[in-house]
Formats: sequence, C-alpha cells, structure tokens
Amino acid sequence: MKNNLILLFILFRLVSSAQEGPRQSFYIPDVEGYKVLKADLHMHTVFSDGLVWPDFRVNEAWQEGLDVIAITEHIEYRPNKADVNGDHNRAYQIAREAGHRAGIVVIPGSEITRRMPPGHFNALFITDANKLDVPDWKDAFREARRQGAFIFWNHPGWKAQQPDSALWLPEHQMLYDSGCMHGIEVANYNEWYPIVMRWALERNLTMLGNSDIHGGIYQQYAIHQGQHRPMSLLFATDKSVEAVKEALFAHRTVAMFNGHLYGTEEWLNKLFKAVVKITPCPEASDDGKITMLLENQSDLNLTLSPTSQSIALGVIYPESLPARSMVQISLRLKTDTMKALKNHTVLMSVDEWHPRPEKSQIVPILFCR
Ligand SMILES: [Zn+2]
Ligand SMILES: [Zn+2]
Repeated sequence: MKNNLILLFILFRLVSSAQEGPRQSFYIPDVEGYKVLKADLHMHTVFSDGLVWPDFRVNEAWQEGLDVIAITEHIEYRPNKADVNGDHNRAYQIAREAGHRAGIVVIPGSEITRRMPPGHFNALFITDANKLDVPDWKDAFREARRQGAFIFWNHPGWKAQQPDSALWLPEHQMLYDSGCMHGIEVANYNEWYPIVMRWALERNLTMLGNSDIHGGIYQQYAIHQGQHRPMSLLFATDKSVEAVKEALFAHRTVAMFNGHLYGTEEWLNKLFKAVVKITPCPEASDDGKITMLLENQSDLNLTLSPTSQSIALGVIYPESLPARSMVQISLRLKTDTMKALKNHTVLMSVDEWHPRPEKSQIVPILFCR
C-alpha cells in the first residue's frame, strides 16, 4: 500500500511538472480559418554559444504563450564543445522531446554562420544538420536546399557585419536567385531594420521577427510586464511542423517587435478584421450620430488614430484599444446628405501596425445603424 502511494505520488509529480510555471494568455483569434501561431524561429542553447539547456527554451516558450520554436545552433561556432559534445542534431532532439510533452512545436534548424558575405542564415526543417558542417558556405546552402529547408537571412542590419548600413550584395542576389533565400529577419533581438522590410516587400521574402536569444528570455525582456520577445506570427492551417513549413513558404507571416507588427497590407487587414469586432451601438446612437462598438478580442494592444478622411467626417480623436477591451466611437451626422446615407466608411490608422516601414496600417470602419 505504502509503495503504491509512493508510486502514485511520483506519477503525479511527473504529470504535474511537465512544465514549470503558468502559461501567460497570448490570444489572437483565427484569421480566415488560419490559426495564428506565435513563433520564435531563432535561438541558441549551450550546444552552441547560448547559456541554457534546450528544454529550458521550451519552458520559456510555454510560459510566454508561444506555439512554435526553432533551436538554431551555430554550425561553425561551438565554444562549449569540450563540455557539450553532442552532434549538430542533438539540441533539437532534446527540445523536440520537451516540446512534445508541452504541446510546443519544435522545428529542426541550424544557423549557417559565415563572415559577410553572405553572413548568418537559418535553415529550418533540415533532416540532418551534420551535413551542413562543410568548409565552403556555398556547399552548406546547397545541402540545406537539398534537404528541403526554408532558409532565411538573419539580422541583415547587424552592425558587427554591416557597420555602415545593411547592403544587399551580389552573394545575396545569387542566394536569392538560386532558391536559397526564402525569408528575412526584419527584427532580431533588440533591433528592427526598415531597409530590410523594403527588401522583403520588393522581393516577396517572408518577413520574420525572432529573438536570437542566448541567455534567459525573462532576463532579456520584461515579459511579466506585458513586453514580448520579437516573434513571427504565422497564419497556419494547423499547429504542426508541416503547417508551419507551408505557411512560411507561402509568406503568411507578420513580424512582431516591441508591440509593433510589420507585414503586408493584405495580412494586416485580415488580422484587423479577425481581432476587432465592430458592431452598432443603437443605445448610444440617435438622429444626429451613429455610435459603433469596437471590441479588441486579442491580447495585442492597439491605438486607432484619425486620418485626414476621418477628420473631415468629424472623427478626430485617437482611441486607445488595449488588449481585450472595448471602445465606443461616434460619427456625427453634420449634413442632410450624411443623414440620408445608411452606411459611412471611416478610415482610421492602427498606429502599431506597419505595411511599410514609414506607414501605419489604414483600416476601414463601417458605421451603420
Ligand atoms: Zn547570427
Ligand atoms: Zn543566432
């Protein structure tokens, strides 16, 4: 009996301690049938130059509310090799096991770490990272492509490699032309790169934001105070490795950095429709005004600012629309022509969302009775 109780206690401990600490809510509703997966596709552990064990990354992701991670150790830089001597696949294998227990999708990957040009690139969905450990960087890319990898350029604006300004060099053009560059980091660690977003838009590269974390994520970002690491929002058919791969190759991403989103106008627009529910508010409307109720159904904080069009219609004040909150916005019907119309479309700007580096996303808000 006593032995049974001890066994039961051990089992309970194992089950209840699969993940440590509570998971933070980080909700974004589905967008046109796609799940919005919160992903960090660039991070390190002691298997290259990071400071933590691979399953710790899974635990951090669990706590912060992420869905997908990739452990991307440097192939060419392993300062802990004398003490941590597993091969190039080992960190992924450990994280995958932990991910399986926690319900976090772990993507296999490696960081091809070369001098500029071409610089650093992550290859995801590789089947054997050891085969990327070759002298010539061109052979490493060829091998990654042969393994069906999704390859992206890491931190192109990193001052250590591009001190004056980020440059798209002939080697990058060659990689792009030969199908060895599918995406690019517009945000990495504590930087975001406007010029890189322009490149991504011009060349239809998948836009990514990643932490490139080496130490502890909770030491680096004030996550308990609402801050998040840089990450990539993926619009995926389901929460699986295959669906993540499909979304990345199809460019269905938005990069998130410091509370701001960077993506195409198309996907930001779809995201807004999913996140903000807009309904008439008849109790607060009358012959002279129409009031709409805007409900932010997500854990993203938004600010709606007037545009010249909305100012002309009399909607002149910015409205803060924090996570999971509601706001009423009224449109004054100043003329008989306005009163005669059933519907009015008011254009507002979402200050934190950017379809171009220097622009905020403009969203239509339909006022109707
Ligand atoms: Zn790097
Ligand atoms: Zn890195």
